Amino acid sequence: MNVSDERLLRIDEVIEPLRVKPGSKVHLPGDFDPAFKTAGLKKKRGVELLDEGITLLAEYQDRLAAQSSEGVLVVLQALDAAGKDGTIRHVMTGVNPQGVAVQGFKVPSDEELSHNFLWRYVSALPKRGQIAIFNRSYYEEVLVVRVHPDLLARQRLPGAGHGDGDVWAARYRDINAFERHLTDNGFRIVKLFLNISKEEQRRRFLRRIDLAEKNWKFSGHDVAERRHWDEYQHAFAAMLSHTSTEHAPRYVIPADRKWFERLAAAAVLVKTLADIDPQYPAVSEKARRDLLTAKTELEQQAAPGVPADPFAAEVAAASGTTGK
Ligand code: ATP
Ligand code: MG
Repeated sequence: MNVSDERLLRIDEVIEPLRVKPGSKVHLPGDFDPAFKTAGLKKKRGVELLDEGITLLAEYQDRLAAQSSEGVLVVLQALDAAGKDGTIRHVMTGVNPQGVAVQGFKVPSDEELSHNFLWRYVSALPKRGQIAIFNRSYYEEVLVVRVHPDLLARQRLPGAGHGDGDVWAARYRDINAFERHLTDNGFRIVKLFLNISKEEQRRRFLRRIDLAEKNWKFSGHDVAERRHWDEYQHAFAAMLSHTSTEHAPRYVIPADRKWFERLAAAAVLVKTLADIDPQYPAVSEKARRDLLTAKTELEQQAAPGVPADPFAAEVAAASGTTGK
C-alpha cells in the first residue's frame, strides 16, 4: 500500500491542532473546544474521510500483524457519554478482530488494590503485532482517584503516598517512565482524551433517560460524577499538562460532534501506523526455494484435467494471458 505524502499531510492537518504540545500548560475548559472541527469540513465529507481512514487502518493492521515487531496501545479517557464505546466501534470496524483486544477498566477489585497502581494495566498490554485498546486506563489513577480522595485511601500507600500534593507528581513521573519504557521497546501509545462539553453531556444523559432502549446506558452514578465536573476538568488539565510527551503525545479529541470525534480518533491512529510503516516480512532465498519445492509437489498431485496450479490459472485468465 502506498499512502501518498499528500494524504498524510491532510491527516496531519486534521490532528495537529488536537495535539497537546509537550511541556505546555493546559487550561480546561478554554484551551480545547469540544465542538471544534477542521475549518470548512462538512459532515458528509467527514464521514467519507472516516471510511477511507477505516480502510487504511485495516490494511495497516494486517501489515502490523505480519511484521510482528511493534505493537500499538490505544488509551481512551473521557467523562461519561463522551463516546468511548461508539468511537471504538466505528474506528475499529474492518480490522481483523484477532489483532485487536479491547480492555475496559472499572473500579478496581480488592486483588487489584493489593498491588502497585500500574499492575492491572500491565497484564493487558498488547503483544508485538497487536493493537490493544484501553477503555479507561492507568490515567484513572490521576483522574477519578484524584477527584475522590477515598479511592486513594483504599490503595493503602505508605507514608507520603497518602494524598499530599506529591502523590500526583510521582504518578505523572511513573506514567511518563512507564510509557517511555513501552515506546523504547517497540510499542507506540495513542493517547486520546475525548473532550465533551458540559451541555452536550447533559443532552446525552437526557436522551438516555428519555429513550427506553437507551436506559441501560444510564446510571445514577453518572449524574453523581457530573456534580464533580469542575474537579474533573482540573484533573484532566493537570494530567494533560504533565503527561503529553514527545514519545507519547496526548491528543484532545473534540467530542461534541460524533462524526468529527470518530474521524479525528481514526486520523491519529492512521498517522501512528503510518509512522511505524509496518512491512510484510521479506522471504529469504532459502524460504523461497522451499516454497518452490512445495509448489512442485502440490502441482504433481493435480488430478487429470485439473490445472496444475488453479490459482495461477485464475490469475492468468483474469489478466487475459494464456498462463504459459
Ligand atoms: P459505560 O458507562 O459506557 O458502560 P464506563 O467506562 O463508564 O462505561 P462504568 O461501569 O460506568 O463504565 O464505570 C466504570 C467506573 O470505574 C467509572 O466511574 C470509573 O471512574 C471507575 N474507575 C475506573 N478506573 C478506576 C480506578 N483506577 N479507580 C477507581 N475507579 C475507577
Ligand atoms: Mg459509565
